[in-house]
Amino acid sequence: MQKAGILGGGQLGRMLLQEAANYPVETYVLENDPDCPAAHLCHHFIKGDIRNFDDVYNFGKDLDVITIEIESVNVDALEKLAAEGRRVIPTPAALRIIKNKVSQKAFYTEHSIPTAAYRVVQSMNELQKHIGDWLPAVQKIGEGGYDGRGVQVIMSVDDAAKGFDSESVLEKKVAISKEIAVIVAVAEGGDTALYPPVEMIFDPYLNLLNFQIAPADVQQNMLWRIQAVARTVAKQLSSPGIFAVEMFISKEGELYVNETAPRVHNSGHHTIEANYSSQYDMLWRILLNYPLGNPASVESSSLVNLLGEPGHTGEVKYEGLEEVLKMENVFVHLYGKKQTKPGRKMGHVTIMSKDKQDLVHKAQQIRHALKVVAH
Ligand code: ADP
Repeated sequence: MQKAGILGGGQLGRMLLQEAANYPVETYVLENDPDCPAAHLCHHFIKGDIRNFDDVYNFGKDLDVITIEIESVNVDALEKLAAEGRRVIPTPAALRIIKNKVSQKAFYTEHSIPTAAYRVVQSMNELQKHIGDWLPAVQKIGEGGYDGRGVQVIMSVDDAAKGFDSESVLEKKVAISKEIAVIVAVAEGGDTALYPPVEMIFDPYLNLLNFQIAPADVQQNMLWRIQAVARTVAKQLSSPGIFAVEMFISKEGELYVNETAPRVHNSGHHTIEANYSSQYDMLWRILLNYPLGNPASVESSSLVNLLGEPGHTGEVKYEGLEEVLKMENVFVHLYGKKQTKPGRKMGHVTIMSKDKQDLVHKAQQIRHALKVVAH
């Protein structure tokens, strides 16, 4: 039986492991927190730091295949493991490009992949110098920021004072009409499968996705563009794996790549119920060298993220769960996190329906009915 390791034990690892039960595979997780969402679902939990060279190397050296559920891992150790014959998916080279937003943007430019115009700044000093003729802008920390924490919108010269004092990308702010994400699956031999794009709606305050519809409502010619761009990103990364390509459609109808994640992704949670082969099932097929599955949509869906309520920190409690479980074609996923805090991702709910109004209506109902609070 193949031995497969996952770096990181969050909810993505948890959902990946839920799917692993269907395959002949022995699973390993490396993570600092023994109480993490994935810990009790793997065969072997190894406590350690995914950012530490020795921890990652020692974890991977006797495994057949290693993957990630978060980008902030030690890539040097993965490189050594790959050089020694371990299969590392995504490749360390692809991971290195994506991990840093500066190299990620350079990659898009190099391969003529449309992306928002940008400059690179190294410090607050440089930010102040370069912001004047570049407004409004969005500053993104090169490495280390995620879930909106490394992103700052700068509308005016005065705003620059709240910017980051570190290497970062300074993008022109795009007037966004729609945010789209496409998940691409790439097998070891290059076979590629595209999931139908999803449409995302963000909470402007928390900067977190809170509502999603799949498949996205876009015109046929825009759909072709989206698919072509997603394929190009995956092809140029030259790596097997699952890639989530996030894009914007601007008010002028231009398409831009925002960023790519080289792993299973939030925007693909709905695929568990709403697509023939989920992103998690698909990743196992890739990791274990089986044929790709069918990414097509079974039914339209909407998805609500369950975030920790503002003002609630402590031991988690779910209010309104029964009411939501009574609803038809509604699927609740709780991530098993013991502690909640404002804005923390605690679970999600997928809603399936042929009727778009029903999808939107139920999503709103669930947002109001189901609350993640502290005891
Ligand atoms: P994270 O890696 O933290 O998810 P993103 O780069 O995806 O950060 O940015 C978070 C959100 O900020 C995006 O989903 C989008 O709503 C907004 N955003 C990012 N870049 C731009 C841009 N150039 N113009 C307008 N809005 C942007």
